[in-house]
Amino acid sequence: MRWEDAYKTAPPWDIGGPQPAFVELVRAGEMRAGRVLDVGCGTGENALFLAQNGFVATGVDVARQAVQEARAKAVERGVEVDFRIENALSLDFKNGQFDSVIDSGLFHTFSDGDRPVFAAGIARVLGASGNYFMLCFSEKEPTDWGGPRRVSQREIEATFSPLFKINYVRSSGLG
Ligand code: SAH
Repeated sequence: MRWEDAYKTAPPWDIGGPQPAFVELVRAGEMRAGRVLDVGCGTGENALFLAQNGFVATGVDVARQAVQEARAKAVERGVEVDFRIENALSLDFKNGQFDSVIDSGLFHTFSDGDRPVFAAGIARVLGASGNYFMLCFSEKEPTDWGGPRRVSQREIEATFSPLFKINYVRSSGLG
């Protein structure tokens, strides 16, 4: 499977620490304390960071290797995170179980057909007062180096506005 293969060696997105955009969200107090789900968590850096900052964190990823690495880091660092091998398109959690969902580079990997399925699943596990924070490659990102599919503001609105109130779409400003 493609995602499993990506973790045979360190993948380029795995920066060995949390994404600065999520560090900034926490610093700015934008994420309400409580239970957070990291979808497509990879080797877990964002979820581990959140757990170290007082959140009750869960991470899911389809790549077994990534989840194993994430679990090993949690043990090594003495941080508690529930890391699971699970498909973000068929989340096995109760309705309204999370206060926040974070997505660091997952949404932009989905096909058009998967997008609304994903959005509905996120809305379900969040409940009415929850927040979803997504970091993705935007249409402003140059395409000359390849990389994942770029996502436009219009596409974000088309996917999420049927189920979510969109608070903002902004540049991470972090390169
Ligand atoms: N969030 C991590 C990884 C981003 S790469 C980081 O910031 O480093 C995208 C991740 O999504 C990969 O780890 C891949 O295995 C995972 N993924 C892809 N499709 C998925 C799906 N349907 N459900 C769960 N995880 C998925």
